[in-house]
Amino acid sequence: MQEVRHNWKKEEVLEIYNSPLMELLYRAATIHRKQHDPNVIQVSTLLSIKTGGCSEDCGYCPQAARYHTNINKNSLMPVAQVKELANRAKSSGSSRVCMGAAWRNVKDGSEFDRVLEMVRTINKLDMEVCCTLGMVTENQAKRLAEAGLYAYNHNIDTSEDYYDDVISTRAFKDRIDTIENVRKTNVTVCSGGIIGMGESLEDRAGMLETLTRFSPHPESVPINALVAVEGTPMEDQPPVNIFEMVRMVATARIVLPESQVRLSAGRTQMSREGQSMCFFAGANSIFAGDKLLTTPNPDIKEDMKMFEELGLNPQKAFYKHEQRESIEAEKSEYQALGEKPKWTRPGHKIERNEQKKKEAIAFKKEVRALKKETLTLKEEDLVLKKDNAVLKEK
Ligand code: SF4
Repeated sequence: MQEVRHNWKKEEVLEIYNSPLMELLYRAATIHRKQHDPNVIQVSTLLSIKTGGCSEDCGYCPQAARYHTNINKNSLMPVAQVKELANRAKSSGSSRVCMGAAWRNVKDGSEFDRVLEMVRTINKLDMEVCCTLGMVTENQAKRLAEAGLYAYNHNIDTSEDYYDDVISTRAFKDRIDTIENVRKTNVTVCSGGIIGMGESLEDRAGMLETLTRFSPHPESVPINALVAVEGTPMEDQPPVNIFEMVRMVATARIVLPESQVRLSAGRTQMSREGQSMCFFAGANSIFAGDKLLTTPNPDIKEDMKMFEELGLNPQKAFYKHEQRESIEAEKSEYQALGEKPKWTRPGHKIERNEQKKKEAIAFKKEVRALKKETLTLKEEDLVLKKDNAVLKEK
């Protein structure tokens, strides 16, 4: 077995990332085979249970209310709809459902109670259930655990150094605190980040270094390639080169040997050959479904066809950790505390975020003016019609 280290230094991680590609692949694949079954791949379906209207300013995210992007906003889904979508995901071959809500943080109340009910419902379908709901307190994490949550996703996104260039509405430490709150329960941790946001290679290594500091390491580590969405501050970022993705996956596999490394956003930009290289380098999990929250993703049937050709088998639910029992709401030990935690609001200015916010405000003003103009024209039209009718009567 590969030694699990929590003291990796950024320089060491960077040296691995920059090593000759064939050496890197060989080293990562060797560790991968020692630690995992190389022919098994975990398939998660990501469901956006509440889309858009988020108060945060994450520079990569089309769901931030302050930018003007072309997404279909939705309020929190009903439990029955989530159940139907989870059943559909199960019959397509997914063993996990990850529910994402565009919230800054979880707030106690009827919406969170509904999410807890969704967790119970999916767990009873014998699927692993994961949530990504923003920042959570320890009590909220415990309530999720009681409902039968299997995993909580909270990405650190990038290195601590680059974080301030991406988000100004919360601090890197808030991310770490949330992950630590989840760790106080039996819920597994899913945490990774995004490459292609304009960060340096040192930042990529720094992000992995931070992930290795967690003890234990996160059970899942999603590696996303930025999907540059029009209207977001990162809309002009060039696509991530496939070899950079392979290097990132391989490096993650080496420094986080026990984690499931998930090939996440950005797969539509990758060829099947590119993805296969990532699987060889140690990726053993994917997000399935034609949409990842709001951005495109390959069709699950295409993924299953690719797995068949590669001889990869979808991982069964509860393969790594046993299923949690779902405690019903009325028997719950933990109640809503109505907490008002003081999550940070650093509020520094990120130029590209500010620029996109200004453009969105200008766009909204223009739309309002156009609507007003149309109304005035309609009113004028009515007056004319009325005048004509009076003239005819005369
Ligand atoms: S990434 Fe999450 S927290 Fe950030 S703007 Fe998007 S939905 Fe909100």
